[in-house]
Amino acid sequence: MTADKNNIPEFSELSLFEIGPKLSSFLPQDFCTSNHIALLDDPSDEGSQDIRIGVLDPEDQDLISEAQEIIGKDIKPIQLNAYEISKALSQIYNIEAESVSGPILHLDSSLEINFSKDRKPNLILQDILSIALQRGSTDIHIENYNDDVDMRLRIDGTLHQVTTSLSPSNIQRVIACLKMACDLDHLERKKSQDGRFSALYDDDGNSRRVDFRASIVPGNHGQEAVIRVLDPQRFILDIDELGMPTNILNSYKRIINHPNGLILTTGPTSSGKTSTLYATVQSLVNRGLKIMTAEDPVEYEMDKVNQKSVNEFMNFSDYIRSFLRQNPDIILVGEIRDAETAEIAVKASTTGHLVLSSLHTSSAIGTVSRLRNLEIPDDYISDNLLGAIGQRLVRKICEKCKEEQSHSDEMLSLFYNKKQSTKHYHGKGCESCNGSGYKGMIGVYELFFPNEEISTAISTGTSVAQLRNMAKEQGFTPLIDNALDKVHEGITSLEEISQRIGPKFPHAN
Ligand SMILES: [Zn+2]
Repeated sequence: MTADKNNIPEFSELSLFEIGPKLSSFLPQDFCTSNHIALLDDPSDEGSQDIRIGVLDPEDQDLISEAQEIIGKDIKPIQLNAYEISKALSQIYNIEAESVSGPILHLDSSLEINFSKDRKPNLILQDILSIALQRGSTDIHIENYNDDVDMRLRIDGTLHQVTTSLSPSNIQRVIACLKMACDLDHLERKKSQDGRFSALYDDDGNSRRVDFRASIVPGNHGQEAVIRVLDPQRFILDIDELGMPTNILNSYKRIINHPNGLILTTGPTSSGKTSTLYATVQSLVNRGLKIMTAEDPVEYEMDKVNQKSVNEFMNFSDYIRSFLRQNPDIILVGEIRDAETAEIAVKASTTGHLVLSSLHTSSAIGTVSRLRNLEIPDDYISDNLLGAIGQRLVRKICEKCKEEQSHSDEMLSLFYNKKQSTKHYHGKGCESCNGSGYKGMIGVYELFFPNEEISTAISTGTSVAQLRNMAKEQGFTPLIDNALDKVHEGITSLEEISQRIGPKFPHAN
């Protein structure tokens, strides 16, 4: 949006001031644009007592004293909105006004990161987002302590500290910029607020759009922020590249070819369920099928797929109900977390739709007890459940610093019930992996798909423990075995699966 430079609305306080290029010599332009501050009175005018200055936040004492120091006279802050400030700056410096929600951010993989106290807040924000993308982070955590700032990036599922010399007041201004980018109320500091924004990321000459979701909450020492990075590059969209072992992959591909039924992915938060669902949809998208999704929120936009984000007006079950009127072939529901969604999802699968979704359970077979808890009758489960994937993400050993590793007998006894000579590996830490010994993540999987015998057992209320034994007899391999295979192949380490999945024989001596 380009503002009309000569036309200030009557209702704006701006119309009370004589704003023009004569004010441009008192404050540097980039100081004003990056801090959203605009001079309103002429400091060289002898008659004026207090020099009035337009700011977003009249309580930002640091900023006001800084401006006071540059001008050398007492100033009086006047609160203006972002549009008014942008408008004033366009007249003072003869530049184009920014749109209200600010310009789209441009980030660059080659940006020199500089977290120093005297850097402008919008540039610090840009640096924070850039470093997060450069290091492949999934989320950014910014917290304040007494006079200390804590900034951490989650990389491959683990939080890593970022060293900065930023102060809590720097961070408060960065958070103000973050709120502007999300088009949130920057004066509201007592309530938590959520928003999202996009940036163009230039990654070594290739540009892509990256979305960010920000959550800002009041803390004991000022506001705190968590920014989720929704980088489309991170999603694996090829079902063959998820890391499924061949036997599971082949069975899974057969299951997803059914025209109707229920397919679920299970695991805790951040176990890669969304990637599996997206890769599944991608493998079906070119078959001339109508695919509709309800997600919380849409994390990656897919071609030829009708995607919706749940919101305060439409939850998962509302969307499934509306989808059923549009006659899709495949419905993806981000998560089944209540009885209402479970009921309508099962109904959709009985009426000729393939329904893909996720459940918060720790194992694939646990799907049966979870659906029972969500009041789905046993015969509906047995009639509709095509299969359930259980999954976790584990970190991959960094190839640059990988070496053989030996373990104590105690550690080995948690995973093996007899002595064995398999080699184990770990990463000793190098520059390429930031000293962590790991780089990237891979899924480990189990697949439960009831055959006729197990289906019948489900319909007669057989316990999950019994179902598990039956499935094992039919060749079901638990996720821990796939994880151990990946340990033996040198893809991940025994410590990693011990931490993320737990021992195979927890009670062994
Ligand atoms: Zn390394």
